[in-house]
Amino acid sequence: MLRIAIQSKGRLYDDTTTLMKEAGIKVNRSERALLVRSTNFPVEILYLRDDDIPQTVASGIADIGVVGLNEVMERGEDIETIQHLGLSKCHLSIAIPKSLEYTGPQWLNGKQIATSYPNILKKYLDANNIKAQIHIITGSVEITPHIGLGDAIFDIVSSGSTLVTNNLKEVERVMDSDAVVVARKDMTENKRAIVNELLFRFQAAIDAQKKKYIMMNAPKAHLKEVLSILPESAKSPTIIPLADENWCSVHTVLEEKHFWECIGELKKVGAQGILVVPIEKIVL
Ligand code: ATP
Ligand code: MG
Repeated sequence: MLRIAIQSKGRLYDDTTTLMKEAGIKVNRSERALLVRSTNFPVEILYLRDDDIPQTVASGIADIGVVGLNEVMERGEDIETIQHLGLSKCHLSIAIPKSLEYTGPQWLNGKQIATSYPNILKKYLDANNIKAQIHIITGSVEITPHIGLGDAIFDIVSSGSTLVTNNLKEVERVMDSDAVVVARKDMTENKRAIVNELLFRFQAAIDAQKKKYIMMNAPKAHLKEVLSILPESAKSPTIIPLADENWCSVHTVLEEKHFWECIGELKKVGAQGILVVPIEKIVL
């Protein structure tokens, strides 16, 4: 039985439980249970605050965990990062009040910076020869400059809307983060095999999220042009005859971003009835 630590509630909880569901791992959690066995896969889920996940994995209480890279770097525990999931993407940045003029990293010299990530911040300041005072605070970091608790903040940014609301501007982007799978270092062969199966399923679910199955009707006379518009990655589309001899149906898998690039051109050469369907899993 493999034990996985995940966040008990919050942003990562949503992304992780959705991913597990897509990976076919059934977990029936009764309200606020802290340790729950899957009913169809040899894993049990331990629900924790995200701050505690790196240490729980390092000490072997859990075998693996799903947590933001930001927490992994901040905690500095002796664990392995074995897969990037590309979910809960954000970055850690320094921000200052909008009204102030920022002249570069040396502006931070002698200033006070409020953060919940003192270790990552200290590394950045040391690497850039900046002498600043770090003020550790565990929540509502973005209001500190307005209540006189520091000149700048170092915190998580995703869309930047929280900064705008609080009259702050991002001046240094220090690190990028996404949800990662971390593992303890001394795992048995048996457990490693379960981890590999799990990572394989996660990857299939993640690959599927980025891709779409597309179908369209194309006039046979313009089939060559339709195929030339489809990107290289859509290897050998399926071509199906239709009752009307002058038309055929073209099916292929596309990254969603390519779909938006191609759609106008496909219509121009006569493609019609373009259907886009989500894909549940892809095994490459
Ligand atoms: P906990 O109660 O478990 O300690 P928390 O309040 O520390 O929760 P959340 O806000 O749920 O944490 O965020 C968890 C992780 O999700 C963060 O460490 C970060 O990796 C990521 N994250 C946070 N905010 C965002 C955001 N706005 N956009 C994308 N990812 C984010
Ligand atoms: Mg936390």
